[in-house]
Amino acid sequence: MKEIKLRKGKEESLDRFHPWVFSGAVASLPPELEEGDTVVVVAADGRRIGTGHFQIGSIAVRMLTFGNEEISYAFYLGRLSQALRLRQALGLDRPDNEAFRLVHGEGDFLPGLVVDVYGSTAVMQAHSPGMHFARNTIAKAITEACPTVKNVYYKSETTLPYKAHLDPVNAYIIGEYRTDVALENGLKFRVDWLKGQKTGFFVDQRDNRSLLEHYSHGRKVLNMFCYTGGFSVYAMRGQARLVHSVDSSAKAISLTDANVALNFPGDDRHKAFAEDAFKYLDNIGQGEYDLIILDPPAFAKHRSALRNALRGYQRLNARAIERIAPGGILFTFSCSQAVSKEQFRLAVFSAAAQTGRRVRILHQLTQPADHPVNIYHPEGEYLKGLVLYVE
Ligand code: SAH
Repeated sequence: MKEIKLRKGKEESLDRFHPWVFSGAVASLPPELEEGDTVVVVAADGRRIGTGHFQIGSIAVRMLTFGNEEISYAFYLGRLSQALRLRQALGLDRPDNEAFRLVHGEGDFLPGLVVDVYGSTAVMQAHSPGMHFARNTIAKAITEACPTVKNVYYKSETTLPYKAHLDPVNAYIIGEYRTDVALENGLKFRVDWLKGQKTGFFVDQRDNRSLLEHYSHGRKVLNMFCYTGGFSVYAMRGQARLVHSVDSSAKAISLTDANVALNFPGDDRHKAFAEDAFKYLDNIGQGEYDLIILDPPAFAKHRSALRNALRGYQRLNARAIERIAPGGILFTFSCSQAVSKEQFRLAVFSAAAQTGRRVRILHQLTQPADHPVNIYHPEGEYLKGLVLYVE
């Protein structure tokens, strides 16, 4: 097996099980090393650290094991079986809940791999060339570890480093299209993994949608950045007086309408609008809504965009806090990994101060347990949310 040697002292973070080797830590690369190769990582004194996938870029190796395991079909099957056991222990794999994340990268000791399950279909995304090359092995292991999964759709056209020139094709590796409706907490959702964002659905808001359901009774709900209408459908079940969904994408609006109709056919409490969120908030009347959800896309995809992102969160939250009815509840989120919990809270604090209203924090939210954070890899924590009570 090809070996990568580290510079002196650069094994420290790996000894604390951090799963990335940065390129600056590498002393020498073996000849004929290719991107995506499985490599053994050794310290400067020759001590073996573990095995991982090599890639070109600031992260040179994503560690798969700190032991001596061989990276084979049995390795992936073992990891995937562990991943499923955790989801079963969490009570997520049940007849009325068929949508969950089976693999959350580093959080499941499979850096570079994401797998979401929607009923009998698993949607798999590779974020590293190593996982791309292992895709057929992994797909087979998914169906063995998780016998209810009959189809594996590979969707990595936008997730792999484009400089690697891998030209991945989005396609079924195993099985074929059957149905695209999956249940989440008993609610039906059409999941468009072929054309939708990410794997087609944001399973990471499941617990937060449930919490919202409990606050919806009798309220006038505004779901901003609705995408598939997840929050809207839960608000409908929670007996909201009315639910308005907003997204700038017309496709998202038709998905939202379809999902509401799937669960509440003919229910005229719901309306959806294809509009820019900032514009929409500018044009609503004071007190028109008493429950608002703000779940925008990541404003900061990279650290360089941090300042603008924080300004964006502040501006958006200030509008919502300003307009919400007295006694209103605001669910506000950031899914930018580059924005910390503290920074997000500070942006929302600044927004509240700008309006001068009395605001209290009721809940501090995060990603659900099927998006576990490897304790040695705090970078895996990305979703932050606050539930505010505005007087
Ligand atoms: N809340 C959703 C996920 C939101 S994803 C859920 O629970 O599944 C972010 C959404 O924001 C996308 O659908 C995107 O189309 C929409 N979006 C991006 N910029 C926008 C803008 N300026 N105004 C309104 N919607 C926007």
